Amino acid sequence: SRQQLFQAQKMEAVGQLTGGLAHDFNNVLTGIIGSLTLIEARIRAGRRDGLDRYIAAAQGAAARAAALTHRLLAFARRQTLDAKVTEINTLILNMGELVRQTVGRRVKLSTDLEPDLWTVCCDPNQLESAILNLCLNARDAMPSGGCIVIHTGNLALLGRAASDLRLANGDYIAVAVSDTGTGMTTEVLARAFDPFFTTKPIGQGTGLGLSMIHGFAEQSGGRARIASEPGAGTTVTLYLPRYHGALPEEIEKGQAIDLSFS
Ligand code: ADP
Repeated sequence: SRQQLFQAQKMEAVGQLTGGLAHDFNNVLTGIIGSLTLIEARIRAGRRDGLDRYIAAAQGAAARAAALTHRLLAFARRQTLDAKVTEINTLILNMGELVRQTVGRRVKLSTDLEPDLWTVCCDPNQLESAILNLCLNARDAMPSGGCIVIHTGNLALLGRAASDLRLANGDYIAVAVSDTGTGMTTEVLARAFDPFFTTKPIGQGTGLGLSMIHGFAEQSGGRARIASEPGAGTTVTLYLPRYHGALPEEIEKGQAIDLSFS
């Protein structure tokens, strides 16, 4: 729908904004380091003339870096959680067309959804961004095509199973996106959740996708985990706590919950 395309364009703009910021920040730091190196060289050579110019350049660059940080913080603050009782299967099925258009024709997309999935309480817009981002990463890992499967399932985590995930014993919903792509090396896997970590060329990767997904899962009381094998594929799983309260009326009537794209 038009709203979904609008949302996709908005997300692309957000990606460009953050990717652009990281790139600008790097340029600014390069400028500061360059000025400081010139200042040091002049001082060592006993030349104090012209130092003012380099100091002013370093100060100007540092001020630009501070302005960029403010923009990044303003962006991060907008990512506040607006939690609602969410029927994840409905959310995934409503995203179908958007995901299909985004991953392109070479990728076979399918779902494996638990029919009696428990509900969760989380921000549906952020969950949607997370799933879309995981599908984009999966597509990028399969340049000559492959398969993406979106799974959902109910999990009663007890003892070892819970403590391995650093979660309390209890009921969780698992949402996972699997691909048959390149997989990650141990080095990439170890850093994949780090903000700004990317192996993609500048302008293509922001390195923020997985870090935002990780933040979203933790803030929702859950976890994000990656299982990956080089040459075989990757599965990213979100574990979100089951919602135990009463269902809002709309869900009891079997209608889709509010998925308005604002
Ligand atoms: P970005 O996609 O902008 O690079 P992410 O934080 O989403 O940022 O991912 C970080 C890195 O993790 C990617 O650059 C890539 O190397 C690796 N990665 C993420 N998802 C996958 C995947 N499905 N398969 C293989 N590698 C992946």
